[in-house]
Amino acid sequence: MGLVKGKIALVTGAGAGIGRATAMLFATEGAKVVVSDIDPASGNETVALIEKNGGEAKFIKADVSKSKDVTALIKSAVDHYGRIDCACNNAGIEGKVVPFHAQSEGNFDAIISVNVKGVFLCLKQEIEHMRNNGGGTIVNLSSVAGLIGFPGLSPYVASKHAVIGMTKNAALEYAKEGIRVNAICPGGIDTRMLDSLAEQASGGGMSTDEMMDPLHPMGRIGTPQEVAELIVWLCSDRSSFITGTAVPVDGGYTSQ
Ligand code: NAP
Repeated sequence: MGLVKGKIALVTGAGAGIGRATAMLFATEGAKVVVSDIDPASGNETVALIEKNGGEAKFIKADVSKSKDVTALIKSAVDHYGRIDCACNNAGIEGKVVPFHAQSEGNFDAIISVNVKGVFLCLKQEIEHMRNNGGGTIVNLSSVAGLIGFPGLSPYVASKHAVIGMTKNAALEYAKEGIRVNAICPGGIDTRMLDSLAEQASGGGMSTDEMMDPLHPMGRIGTPQEVAELIVWLCSDRSSFITGTAVPVDGGYTSQ
């Protein structure tokens, strides 16, 4: 308790999965949270869950792939809470599982626009704000797919490699200004996105657990909470000498 006490944290894609767990853990650990998502219903549900646990949060709608939305998000967050100390750029989509030669331009554009442009737009504006505010910490959601390839997922793999590239560059450019930027690389995590990937990859023939558990050395997929623990710690002062990294949280997946 109290890992990020008194800080203001922003989480994108916080209406579900890893984003929701992260927003909730930020609040449990003492931060006031800006919960952002493309979907107001699920975002407001996250706020209600935080408030039920005694925390403080505000929902602000934003599609991270839209420059105007991201500008309005940062402005409203700062207008409401005065500043942003920690940001988690989590919103992402998986798209379609299709071999490389059969990938459509539409699927590629859709994935790149949320997973790469979305992180770019958020990072840029968060950094701009943090430079004028004495620093801050940022965690970007990459994936094990940012470190290695996954057949059928070429646009997603490209997007998650790009997130690590942007993370390294931002970390280098602002290291002396008190802004730390890290990426994290989850393995299979129990969310709607993983259900979609398992269903597409197995043609609906296997459950998520049947398909994904045996792929991980620990024999199971991870929970959103296990990812949130890493994100909140990387955003806290306890990780003060860590920047520019891409940290796996994958039950040993990338050690194979
Ligand atoms: P999820 O359960 O699908 O949740 C993603 C959230 O982001 C949803 O609330 C979604 O809203 C929202 N979102 C989608 N597009 C958006 C946009 N353009 N702007 C703002 N919000 C948007 O996914 P998750 O599994 O928690 O994944 C979160 C992040 O972790 C993603 O970046 C993903 O690539 C990464 N990741 C996940 C896994 C995994 O196994 N789950 C592994 C590695 C990395 P809607 O539902 O309304 O679309």
